[in-house]
Amino acid sequence: MKIGVLALQGDFAEHIAILKRIGADTQEVRLPGHLDALDGLIIPGGESTTIGKMAVAYNLMDSLRQFGQEKAIWGTCAGAIFLSRDARRPQPLLELMDISVERNAFGRQVASFEVDLEIPALQKVDPQGGLYHAIFIRAPLIESVEKEAQILAKLEDGRIVAAQQGHLLATSFHPELTQDDRFHRYFLELAG
Ligand code: GLN
Repeated sequence: MKIGVLALQGDFAEHIAILKRIGADTQEVRLPGHLDALDGLIIPGGESTTIGKMAVAYNLMDSLRQFGQEKAIWGTCAGAIFLSRDARRPQPLLELMDISVERNAFGRQVASFEVDLEIPALQKVDPQGGLYHAIFIRAPLIESVEKEAQILAKLEDGRIVAAQQGHLLATSFHPELTQDDRFHRYFLELAG
């Protein structure tokens, strides 16, 4: 299994470290040709406007959209925004997932937080696994999930923080910043 990580900006190195630890081959993706022969792609956290502008500058938009038609893509935080159909601001989006997001929905950087979530889908990779410790850093909310997209995780108050649409995955939080590799293993199953 070979998984690419979009390496234009953000915490791609952390994703690559976890992927290696769980036995996947990895590829930093900066140019369209880097997508060849990949089974899946992760778009990391960072700053979604910057990632989008760089993807335009590096001529990646069409190739990424095409890749996402057939293969698995997972966006964490800024990556989830970049995957969405609508972020209510003018910025380059892949528009692959039928989700609308609200950027910086919890406020400024100081309002970043961590919380334990119940994520039933992760039982697929670890039936004994308990709550999932999620790290939110100036995170977006998934405001709505439409058409084929499904909710994977909610906060206690019902607000949506993870969604899946077939082989596409979006999380408002950062599994790459924890030691818990369940989400990465879940993604490898989607890519496989
Ligand atoms: N606030 C960033 C954005 O809107 C996302 C932050 C993150 O990826 N941790 O793009």
